[in-house]
Amino acid sequence: MDLSIIIPIYNEEDNIQMLYNRLSGVLALLERSYELIFVNDGSRDQSLRLVKDLSERDARVRFIDFSRNFGHQIAVTAGLDLAQGEAVVIIDADLQDPPELIPQLYQKLHEGYEVVYARRRSRQGESIAKKFTAKLFYRILASITSISIPVDTGDFRIISRKVVDALKQMPEQNKFIRGQISWIGYRQTYLEYDRAERAGGATGYTYSKMIRLALDGITGFSNAPLKFATISGFVVSGIAFIVMLYTLYERFVAHDYQPGWASLMVSILFLGGVQLIAVGIIGEYLSRLSANVRQRPLYIISDTNIPATSIAPAANPATHPGPVFPS
Ligand code: UDP
Ligand code: MG
Repeated sequence: MDLSIIIPIYNEEDNIQMLYNRLSGVLALLERSYELIFVNDGSRDQSLRLVKDLSERDARVRFIDFSRNFGHQIAVTAGLDLAQGEAVVIIDADLQDPPELIPQLYQKLHEGYEVVYARRRSRQGESIAKKFTAKLFYRILASITSISIPVDTGDFRIISRKVVDALKQMPEQNKFIRGQISWIGYRQTYLEYDRAERAGGATGYTYSKMIRLALDGITGFSNAPLKFATISGFVVSGIAFIVMLYTLYERFVAHDYQPGWASLMVSILFLGGVQLIAVGIIGEYLSRLSANVRQRPLYIISDTNIPATSIAPAANPATHPGPVFPS
């Protein structure tokens, strides 16, 4: 198998047929053996039905049906676990990532790279708030992580078998795949493209899902927020100590003091605020730590047409449980 295309699906009934047509058209020109892996992430519409219909007519269509909505990053992870291609493309189902770019990505990969990601030159049909928060997030992330995670880049990319195998050995529960791929290293490059509008349907990425992704990216690849908690703790304690000396001086030496309600309130509120921030930051890391200690499987497959025997066992079953199949 030369190429696996991984497509996470969450309520994409309006786009599946057109996506399939465009992908098949483009891949036919490439003249390589390929599979299309549709990962149905708990859709509540007709998406699964449509994908199953396609798989009956085209043996290259594989589907993985989750038992519920596990989220986009987990859906992609399942695709990576079950993909058999020598190269793997990750692409959104809503045609915001043009399938027509795949031949160029594929060609670039064969120029001696292990990762070719697609970088958005522009993005259409997205709210100003989304574009702004995305831009801000990528820049904050770039400035606080030690590895260089490319800015303005989603998961649309092609990766080689080497990188897929490396990803399968990374057992973390809170996935931020583009960060993991940067962390893995090897020769990486990019192509630029204009991100289209969503073809049909509505976005499945709610603000709470975006915030979770952003926090997973930050906590997974940076300890800067923890350092921020420590440093702000020191700064505030320092200020508080100076104010304390000043208060003692006024009280016992100068004997000039006011009933200090205002200053008391200000310092209590300020200290309380800083403490809560610090505790919150620690909590974010702690919750991820406990998720990893639990070692639950990342996802449960309720149905698939990929035979379990064709799948390599998890690289490290002790730390990574690997796919769970319906019995
Ligand atoms: N998606 C998913 N699970 C989710 C949300 C989204 O598998 O919980 C899929 C969705 O079907 C699409 C891709 O992830 O293929 C990107 O989602 P979307 O287009 O909604 O995100 P946006 O482009 O708005 O950031
Ligand atoms: Mg989209």
